[in-house]
Amino acid sequence: MDLSYNAEYEAFRQTVISFLKAHWPVPDSAGEGAADWPRPKKEAWFRKQAIEAGFLYRGVPKEFGGAEQEADILKATIIRDEFSKRRAPMEAPGIGNMMLVPTLLECGTQAQKERFVAKTLTGEYHWAQGYSEPNAGSDLASLRTRAELVEGENGLEWSITGQKIWSTLAQYAQYMFVLARTEPDAGKHAGISYLLIDLKAPGVTIRPIKQVTGGKEFCEVFFDDARTPADWIVGERGQGWTVSKATLAHERSSIGGAQTSVGLFEKLLSLAKGVNYQGVPAIEHPVIRDRLVTLEGYVQSHLYSSYRQLSMAAAKQNPGRITLMNKLINTNIGHMVADLAKDLIGDAALTMPPIKGRAEGHEKWLNQFFGSLGVAIAGGTSNIQRNIIAERGFDLPRDDAQE
Ligand SMILES: Cc1cc2nc3c(=O)[nH]c(=O)nc-3n(C[C@H](O)[C@H](O)[C@H](O)COP(=O)(O)OP(=O)(O)OC[C@H]3O[C@@H](n4cnc5c(N)ncnc54)[C@H](O)[C@@H]3O)c2cc1C
Repeated sequence: MDLSYNAEYEAFRQTVISFLKAHWPVPDSAGEGAADWPRPKKEAWFRKQAIEAGFLYRGVPKEFGGAEQEADILKATIIRDEFSKRRAPMEAPGIGNMMLVPTLLECGTQAQKERFVAKTLTGEYHWAQGYSEPNAGSDLASLRTRAELVEGENGLEWSITGQKIWSTLAQYAQYMFVLARTEPDAGKHAGISYLLIDLKAPGVTIRPIKQVTGGKEFCEVFFDDARTPADWIVGERGQGWTVSKATLAHERSSIGGAQTSVGLFEKLLSLAKGVNYQGVPAIEHPVIRDRLVTLEGYVQSHLYSSYRQLSMAAAKQNPGRITLMNKLINTNIGHMVADLAKDLIGDAALTMPPIKGRAEGHEKWLNQFFGSLGVAIAGGTSNIQRNIIAERGFDLPRDDAQE
């Protein structure tokens, strides 16, 4: 494992720093006179400069709005590090960039890429994910939403009928990528197709679900003969299961980064330095110190395991089960950090009002605590992740429940 960057990469780092000084000189700013702009406009302006400079969307071809740079995981890491140090915007947030764009680039038609990719990168198109159903979560392939080709006003269309649930922020999305059963006579996995649909289409009803935090981040989405063009299918008919696995791989790798764990732990340390626990500063209490040291051990292992993954990927070796383990480790650390923070805040945590809008102060930790329970479920639960690690990472026999 070699953790140092050579002179070429250090020179690249300087180029990134110079770019940031010119275009995002202090946190929360962008360019001359930008202080008065609304934040989304500032970010959009900055992203455009960063794409032109070759720093954002490096893997996306220029014809679809990306920077089209040669794959270089070390350069990508340097960019991520330097941008996050200055809190400069990275890729536009949302499931579209994270999951749909890589899937379309891998499995979509030329027309689909031209129609959807660039505007998803800039954040003009927001997407929701329509996988889970009330009776299909971990066992996703038992989904029942169905789609059939019918003659519509504009030629052949898919008619979709069924229900999705837990669709993150679907109430704000224009489009959804949906898994639907199109081949009712085929086997469980072979009968599914991956379709795109405009959520404003007639026959689509979106109902936000109210959460314990007071927010409404998920929706139920009902399809009642909702129509979408015949060519808005990604991959072949009945190949949706393979396409969906490509999407999930992107979701799982994006949930697994070590920087989140390191950043969270630093915030936990600041909290422990600022509050009292059983009458003494929390950071000096032996029980708290013990829990902090244990947690730091996990965080450091995660960090070095991610460096190992990076070194292996840079050397074009397959990091194998290390990648599989990252989401699980990250999820566990997020929960343990929030759990300790909750104990440090004490009884006040129980009396805090529901959180509306952006959480400030201690209530951020409550959000983190509840959110950490959600992360252990999103993109495949921790139990399922353990199964995958056992089966694909250690070649143990398959879990019959998933067949
Ligand atoms: C924050 C968040 C965001 C989400 N966003 C979306 C979204 O945008 N779109 C979408 O489609 N879905 C989304 N989901 C849904 C998520 O994918 C499902 O909740 C998840 O796949 C689990 O399904 P389930 O809730 O039906 O639980 P179940 O599958 O019923 O699982 C219940 C429990 O049983 C365990 N279990 C089940 N099967 C096995 C097994 N074979 N071996 C061991 N244990 C097992 C699970 O680990 C879990 O503890 C989101 C969920 C969360 C929490």
